[in-house]
Order: sequence, then C-alpha cells, then structure tokens
Amino acid sequence: MDLEKVKEALLKRGFAAEAFATKAAAAARVMEMAKDAGSVGWGGSETVKEMGLREAMAAAGKEIRDHQTVCDLFLLSANALTADGRIVNIDGRGNRVAASIYGPKQVVFVVGRNKIVEGGIDDAVARIKRCACPPNCRRLGKQTPCALTGKCADCNSPDRICMVTVIHERPARATPTAVLLIDEDLGY
Ligand code: SF4
Repeated sequence: MDLEKVKEALLKRGFAAEAFATKAAAAARVMEMAKDAGSVGWGGSETVKEMGLREAMAAAGKEIRDHQTVCDLFLLSANALTADGRIVNIDGRGNRVAASIYGPKQVVFVVGRNKIVEGGIDDAVARIKRCACPPNCRRLGKQTPCALTGKCADCNSPDRICMVTVIHERPARATPTAVLLIDEDLGY
C-alpha cells in the first residue's frame, strides 16, 4: 500500500494528513500537535497504546480524559481506512465515535498500514468484523459468536459490540481532523 497515495486522497477530502515511516516518528508528531492542549481525550485504542502516547501525554502534564467529548485534542485510531480516504469505525456505546465527530477542539486519528483496505466501505466493514471485533469481544469477555469462533455471524446477541457504524467522508464541519498514517502494523 502506497501511503503517499492514501495521504493525497485524505487531503482531497479536507483532512489534514501526514505519513510516517515509524510509530516513533508519528508519536513525536502527535506530541507536537498536543503541545497547546491542556486536556487529551482518549479513544481506547490499541494503536495509541502501542505508540506509548498515554505515558508520554501524562509525562508532559496533560490531563487525560477517557472517551470524553469535551477536550482540546481527541486521539484515536480507525478500525479501517479506505484507500480513497474514508475512515470507518464501529462502536458499541458510541462515545468514541461521538467524540470523533463533535466536541473536541481537534481530532487526531493514528492509523497503521494494516487498517487500510482497497475495496471501499464494504471491504472496510468486513475488515472490522473479521479483524477487530473478535479480539475486542474476547478482550471484553463477551459471549458473542465472533468471540467463540473468530467469525462474525451478524449476531443478535445481547453482548453484541457492533452497534453504531460511522463513516467519515470528510471532517465534520466544526471539527478539524488530522490523520497520521504509519507504515507499520499497529492495533487490530
Ligand atoms: S455482529 Fe456479533 S458476531 Fe458479528 S462481529 Fe459484531 S458482535 Fe461479533
């Protein structure tokens, strides 16, 4: 996957977009973007954890708010990103996707190359159901078909975690949104 092409697609849609060779370089850029942010909202992302950003933000004296819609900078990953620059996320409670749309002064997505799909929105949703939901259900102790078998059965389980699907076609009108692409596999 050519990250520069994906970056260009994101820029055309109005996102601020940058590409990085390593998670360390991207993490340094996030810290720079957060330099004037007093509060940093946290989207509960494995990618963000793997980048060590929570510790770095705490060490820099930032107030960290979990899943908050009111903060100076909201940091999360994408469950999938289409090669033509659309961001796709699926949530259970919806607080992560809500904060990615409205509330924070700035939203920053950090996205590893493994999240990028070639086949459009259907491919993005399929990726999420295949790669993200089963491990998330297992991590959360949910009794869903995907937790038990590793495969989505489009369940109607009370434990279902796929409740809300949000597609960013462009940044929401009141929310400056940046996407940092990273040429490493990060999160799931
Ligand atoms: S619909 Fe059900 S089985 Fe499919 S990914 Fe979501 S929780 Fe898992």
